[in-house]
Amino acid sequence: MTTTTETYGVDPTASPLALLLLGREADPNSERGVECPGDLPAASDPDLVARARAAKEKLGDRVFILGHHYQRDEVIEFADVTGDSFKLARDAAARPEAEYIVFCGVHFMAESADILTSERQQVVLPDLAAGCSMADMATAEQVAECWDVLTDAGIADVTVPVSYMNSSADIKAFTGKHGGTICTSSNARRALEWAFEQGQKVLFLPDQHLGRNTAVLEMGFSLEDCVLYNPHKPNGGLTAEQLRDAKMILWRGHCSVHGRFSLDSVNEVRERIPGVNVLVHPECRHEVVTAADQVGSTEYIIKALDAAEPGSKWAIGTELNLVRRLAKAHPDKEVVFLDRTVCFCSTMNRIDLPHLVWALESLAEGRVPNVITVDAETEKYAKAALDRMLALP
Ligand code: SF4
Repeated sequence: MTTTTETYGVDPTASPLALLLLGREADPNSERGVECPGDLPAASDPDLVARARAAKEKLGDRVFILGHHYQRDEVIEFADVTGDSFKLARDAAARPEAEYIVFCGVHFMAESADILTSERQQVVLPDLAAGCSMADMATAEQVAECWDVLTDAGIADVTVPVSYMNSSADIKAFTGKHGGTICTSSNARRALEWAFEQGQKVLFLPDQHLGRNTAVLEMGFSLEDCVLYNPHKPNGGLTAEQLRDAKMILWRGHCSVHGRFSLDSVNEVRERIPGVNVLVHPECRHEVVTAADQVGSTEYIIKALDAAEPGSKWAIGTELNLVRRLAKAHPDKEVVFLDRTVCFCSTMNRIDLPHLVWALESLAEGRVPNVITVDAETEKYAKAALDRMLALP
């Protein structure tokens, strides 16, 4: 099978977002795109670790620090719990005694935590500019326009939206309002099966790759059953007939980290390390997932490495901070990053020790910085979509 950039609408070159300098820079096009307002300690301050410890100790059970798997080591060191975005939001909800949830992750994750936690808990994002390029690729206006296009094509009433966890609260609310569900990379198949029991078509937002990989590799759909809706083109770049014929209407979004892995990366690592197992995340492009030995969510990748035989060799296609930690945790196995070039999630990396120290010290001094709040109307519908996911068989 030949696949091209044109087919999947992904430009594998670095996005401007990926080239952002870390630290205090702001990205005007990001999910929130604002500059962190705090007076941050210098990154060179030799007392940062001691300051973080002292502030955390002072706050005690009033603070609960969540660390996403893709965070830097210096931040993970202070996390009370680590995990993917959904696990972390649920962990926060299970800690009602914590007044402050410090979410070391990106903006949409903090929103989900706010939706799932109680009203008396406040969710703090240490750097407000930590957005997600994938979540940015589907705005509420664009998605509302898409729904109008589907309505004009006469298919909106048979289409069920399924949105990936990696989307803004607005998109989750849209999904809930239109009878759809949220999914994670672990339960995408179950969510799609449920959606096809409710309707004849799925509008999958915002990650085209997770939608395509799940539909084609796990559910028996063909590539021809999938069409790509491009929000930057009139009518998504599709005719009414193409929309009517499709089963999966995939939003043209992707992760700027996982979208960079290519078939060349897989071929190159197989040549370099004979016998290597290639294990990739389902946010990777279809041809990469097809060429890999295994595909699975971040939690799947962690468990696969735990269960692997000593001496086995692994090339992992996911974010570099996690791959480095896995390599360190498994010295008896050879664990390498799938690509030869560095591939951090630049927005995740915006949360660093100075931002964490600033957030914790502010809380310890009685100021609550960078609170992420989802308005009541958005929360109601977003929660409806999340609840449908929780009720999936
Ligand atoms: S790794 Fe990709 S999906 Fe996750 S936060 Fe970064 S850009 Fe978004």
